[in-house]
Amino acid sequence: MNRELLASLIDRLDYGPAPESESKTREWLKGHDSTFSHYINGAWQPPKNGRHLTTINPAKSNEVLAEIALGTKEDVDAAVDAAKQAFPSWSMLSGHHRARYLYGIARAVAKHARIFAVLESLDNGKPIRETRDIDVPVVIRHFYYHAGWAQTMEQEFPGYRPGGVIAQIIPWNFPFLMLAWKIAPAIAAGNTVVIKPSKSTPLTALLLADVLMNEVNLPPGVVNIITGDSRTGTMLYEHPIPWKVTFTGSTEVGRIIRKGTAGSGKHLTMELGGKSPFIVFESADLDSAIEGVVNGIWFNEGQVCCAGSRLLVQEGIHNDFINRLKRRMRKLRVGNPLDKAVDMGAINNAEQFKKITEMMEVGKKEGAVMWQPDNVDCPKGGYFLPPTLFTNVEPSQTIAQEEIFGPVLVTLTFRTPSEAIQLANNTRYGLAASIWSQDIDTAMDVARKVKAGTVWINSTNLFDAAAGFGGYRESGYGREGGREGMYDVLLDDDHRSDSTGDGHGAKGMVSLGRQTREEATGTVVASHGVDRTFRFLIGGTLVRPDQAGSYSVTSPAGELLAVVGEANRKDVRNAVEAARRAFPSWFESSAHLRAQILFFWAENLAAERERFARALTAQTGCTPDAAQAEVEQAISRLFDFAAYADKFGGTVQPVLGRRLVVGLREPVGVIGIRASDNSPLLGLISVIAAGIAMANTVVVVAGIHAMTAMDLVQVIQHSDVPAGVINILTSAQPDAIAKIIAEHEDVDAIWFFGNTEGSKVVEEASSSNMKQTWVSDGRQIDWSTLKRDRLLLKSTQVKNIWVPYGV
Ligand code: NAD
Repeated sequence: MNRELLASLIDRLDYGPAPESESKTREWLKGHDSTFSHYINGAWQPPKNGRHLTTINPAKSNEVLAEIALGTKEDVDAAVDAAKQAFPSWSMLSGHHRARYLYGIARAVAKHARIFAVLESLDNGKPIRETRDIDVPVVIRHFYYHAGWAQTMEQEFPGYRPGGVIAQIIPWNFPFLMLAWKIAPAIAAGNTVVIKPSKSTPLTALLLADVLMNEVNLPPGVVNIITGDSRTGTMLYEHPIPWKVTFTGSTEVGRIIRKGTAGSGKHLTMELGGKSPFIVFESADLDSAIEGVVNGIWFNEGQVCCAGSRLLVQEGIHNDFINRLKRRMRKLRVGNPLDKAVDMGAINNAEQFKKITEMMEVGKKEGAVMWQPDNVDCPKGGYFLPPTLFTNVEPSQTIAQEEIFGPVLVTLTFRTPSEAIQLANNTRYGLAASIWSQDIDTAMDVARKVKAGTVWINSTNLFDAAAGFGGYRESGYGREGGREGMYDVLLDDDHRSDSTGDGHGAKGMVSLGRQTREEATGTVVASHGVDRTFRFLIGGTLVRPDQAGSYSVTSPAGELLAVVGEANRKDVRNAVEAARRAFPSWFESSAHLRAQILFFWAENLAAERERFARALTAQTGCTPDAAQAEVEQAISRLFDFAAYADKFGGTVQPVLGRRLVVGLREPVGVIGIRASDNSPLLGLISVIAAGIAMANTVVVVAGIHAMTAMDLVQVIQHSDVPAGVINILTSAQPDAIAKIIAEHEDVDAIWFFGNTEGSKVVEEASSSNMKQTWVSDGRQIDWSTLKRDRLLLKSTQVKNIWVPYGV
């Protein structure tokens, strides 16, 4: 540094340039002639069509860093085939053996940490301060942590096994971190993987390939890396071999993948977009909260799925807070990502740069006021943007609703905690939230009520492998990290015993005779002495079908057993509204109360065991012994979930640092269920009891065995189940009704136990608001042996609340 510059810096007390050396990283690129193949079966394999894409340095937008292979169908086939071949021996290795490989990866990444950090900054544009202190250390932690799960898997997950090949697709904002989040749990569990990085940030994945090949000696085919663009991604998720697709990226592409995999039987983990609230109460430590905002929205230039992009400030402190924030924004440094004293680097690519600047224009047009510090210089020749703040924002404006994915913060005010919660939840997303208050009651109350997979109290953007990460609502489903993340890369043994069939193995029959309202309003006396009426259970009362349609339930011999209501779209709407209305207080109810109700329901069912057994025999033609056994199992199942209601709670996750991470198992919300046609009583009770034990409310549609559902309605009504918690419809075409439920925007999950076509239809329909799905794909579920775990896991989603401590 020359004397003059030094003197002027001392004069101004300003930062001088402090660039990190890039020579080692450039050497590595040069060693490959800056041209890369795919990493398949433990070796570099050139693209079959010989075509390449370029990846650039976004801080110097004309500089090409490397040519990367464009993956074609042949390349994807080769990678999937390598993973398939590697699976048997990898999954048969002892957990300890796999653990040693994961530990080896952690160590090797640590050894080359600086090259990884510099390469990530060059390829992505993010500051070296972040790649060096966050991205790479979190990657290492992830491999260590999952070495631990590999080691303990046999003891910790008995009855679970890896499913085979997993297809993985990741975005550009945390290229190396996302890769670790995907690969580490998958291979720890014994799966093998094919992963596709984003076309604009493939380089750290390719450096890892070098490390796996030359230093870790990972068996060939366990990890395969295919580079390319969205076409390559499509070929990968469409490939028939992978049992699971895990995707991190935009909600828009998540929806495409949900539709594209519908009916394929593939399991999905979806880590999607967000518009996370950052809530500051008057009771907050304001200086800390200001630093929190900086970290919340300007970390990684705001290109963070869980960025605190909506600042909600309590009215009384709003002006003061915004003034302080503006002062702090003036101090942020935008510049060369490799400069160790830079706060914000470059936006990753031209397309994203354009999208952010367009969103700024939209904000201004819609009447919000944009502010950028006038003293922050953005270097020329790269995709740099200054920190940006919007005030005068209305909650419904585009910039308050849509993910901008850039350094743009929008501000809203609130008066009371309940208004803060309402504003926080006023979005289709549910990835994260950050809450600032020194008042623990307020902070925890809001944490509980905000719909988000991760909640940080007096902190933000903290990550640890022990705390699973993932979304609620349109931010996706499934978790990465934590014990919860391991369940997402494992299959339970029930899957093995699911027999294939079309889901219509049950013996009852449906005759679709439409009746008039007069006919249907009467009670039909069935030959078995069981009285049937046709009404639905909606909102705690018996309700006539909207269109007075009905159908007959008959015995296998064709005898009329009952006439039940035929549901339509309006009935579905009413049932969903009732379930939604009932949800908040059911969610707030104590687990003890839910247990009591389930025990009471069991007692009332037991009192009518003969009647239920007779009805089962009449409907399905099963023997009286089989019917009695099913009723007894159903009673026991109610006891099961009464027991679990107050035992399947959560954990305190052991993360790094002085923080408790409280992992709560929260309900999914309103669950729509197309009831199973086999084991009509046990199947129905299993899903309803698990759902409501975990504080969900349900809308169920029963089909050919509607008589059992109607019988249950009477018992439910006498069991103190609050109105709207259980809603039951019947239909001769339950698949069509399930589709309507799956399309409903106010339903959070859809479970479908029926044929392959119906499974496909509801999976497609679920993409409208990215509902969680559980479909049987034509397999007949054995309800008598189904793991309770599976039902409980399906009925819950993990919310991790980070609570700092220490004085
Ligand atoms: P993107 O959805 O455009 O792309 C993600 C990946 O999917 C890339 O590898 C891309 O090549 C591939 N892809 C794109 N279209 C595809 C298609 N039709 N079929 C198959 N693959 C396709 O996302 P992005 O722009 O790379 O990343 C930004 C988004 O990622 C943001 O919405 C952000 O919120 C989200 N994100 C979410 C998380 C999370 O954990 N929830 C983490 C990081 C980023």
